[in-house]
Amino acid sequence: MTSAPPPPPLSEPDPSTFTCSTSQVGPCSGCHRHTHKYGHGGLPLCHWCMATAQANWGNTVRFTGTRTPAV
Ligand SMILES: [Zn+2]
Repeated sequence: MTSAPPPPPLSEPDPSTFTCSTSQVGPCSGCHRHTHKYGHGGLPLCHWCMATAQANWGNTVRFTGTRTPAV
């Protein structure tokens, strides 16, 4: 995970905005960078905040619910 390039300045939108409608673009919940936030495939966090969050939360993080897998 240390090979990931550093995120660009916050003025740069997340690359996901390039492939979605502008009506689905919103501010990232973490850094307020423009990201594909709404609609199909949208996420509340940008690519970089998501990577950081997953690194902090571990691989068991789920976005569809708060229940922990019974494993
Ligand atoms: Zn962000």
